[in-house]
Amino acid sequence: MREAHDFCGLFGIVGDPDAVIKTYHGLYSLQHRGQESAGIVASDGTSFNVHKGMGLVADVFSRATLERLKAPMAIGHVRYSTTGSSTPQNAQPLVAEGAIGPIAVAHNGNLVNSGRLHAELEAHGSIFQTTVDSEIILHLIAHPDNQGRPDAIARALRRISGAFSLLFLTRDGVVAARDPNGFRPLCLGRVGAAWVVASETCAFDLIKAEYVRDVEPGEIVHITRAGLRSERFVPAAETRPSMCVFEHVYFARPDSRVFGDTVHLVRMRLGAQLAVEHPVDADLVMAVPDSGNSAAMGFAARSGIPYEQGFIRNHYVGRTFIQPTQGARDSEVEIKLNIVRDVVKGKRVVVVDDSIVRGTTARSRVKALRGCGVREVHLRVSCPPLRHPCFYGIDFPDPRQLIANGRSVAEIRDFLGLDSLGYLSIDGMLTAARAAPPEHFCTACYSGKYPVKVEDGTRKEIFER
Ligand code: AMP
Repeated sequence: MREAHDFCGLFGIVGDPDAVIKTYHGLYSLQHRGQESAGIVASDGTSFNVHKGMGLVADVFSRATLERLKAPMAIGHVRYSTTGSSTPQNAQPLVAEGAIGPIAVAHNGNLVNSGRLHAELEAHGSIFQTTVDSEIILHLIAHPDNQGRPDAIARALRRISGAFSLLFLTRDGVVAARDPNGFRPLCLGRVGAAWVVASETCAFDLIKAEYVRDVEPGEIVHITRAGLRSERFVPAAETRPSMCVFEHVYFARPDSRVFGDTVHLVRMRLGAQLAVEHPVDADLVMAVPDSGNSAAMGFAARSGIPYEQGFIRNHYVGRTFIQPTQGARDSEVEIKLNIVRDVVKGKRVVVVDDSIVRGTTARSRVKALRGCGVREVHLRVSCPPLRHPCFYGIDFPDPRQLIANGRSVAEIRDFLGLDSLGYLSIDGMLTAARAAPPEHFCTACYSGKYPVKVEDGTRKEIFER
């Protein structure tokens, strides 16, 4: 069965003697985009060397491994997926022998026509090694029809649909591509004479690279030692940007620039807009750290209510959602977020969070706040209610587990035990992400409007069955 690619981070570099160590550092900065596996493929233009494994970047690579991989060009990948088949074999980048020689691929996003393509390729004799849908792209490139064709990658990309930010490594260099909707971010930078490409600019900062521009939706960028060459696999006039607004809300790192905007500043504006839409009389504003920090600052600044640290986060606990059972999740929230009693006792508090998924965090922490003698708890959420599944690469649980699915805001408020609850409106959210016009964002998880048709067999529940 095919598998979704949720939560991935990409990094690539060409023309640097320390390409591999820079890739390692780049992946380190992108660790928030995936904690399940990490991998690097490096090349000197003749042979390919790969190392990948399960776990965090720091656990997968040793100094000796990085030395062994040493080469002037490389691509790397960090991955998190919930679909059960978390095996080393599914770790990326994937390497294969293609029509144009050895080729490696790293993918962020999720294809929505993989079922059909997989069946078609298998019927024509393709043998699949993994259960990840990115392997389809390699098979499409290697297809006999593409033998000897310089545009093999472009031809393959025109056949896939859905969300894909991709990096390929070939003997000539790195090829970067972004789907015509630009769902996931992908940006280009320079360090010395080398070109780099990464999911987010925070990966550039650590290696002292300078951001140049984003890879455009529908664009293929060929990076070789000779420099950069741009090509389009879909004409600009036919692309319809629908960038994932959830990258700004939650997923990307606040110090990154994605989709032309600095994430922290977008989140500040989300919080400010939230204060306008859902004002409240209170003594202090506090964030659910770390993801709610920027929005809470924006809320406090706009409302004039003092910002306080009522929660302290323990950073040595994995993200709550990794836990398999509901019971484990509850206790993990307790370990992760502790309350500073003397700050909140007797106060009317506004708690700002970036999003509510299952409601586990909110319910548990509201109860704990009451236990600390808080007078009133007002929850403000810096995005609209999450009601619909994402088919383009963000991992949400089964829609039945989304607390906002089939519940009104008043029902959610009562379920969470709140004095008041306010979600940001879709329009308000899109005004805050103002570097691009509102219609250039995908809001499917809030609105149920899917910009790219989701074909057969791509639903997560179907993968798992
Ligand atoms: P929950 O306890 O399930 O309501 O999760 C809420 C928290 O999980 C939010 O405060 C977010 O910071 C974080 N979050 C947002 N989106 C996701 C996601 N797709 N998977 C896991 N956690 C998420």
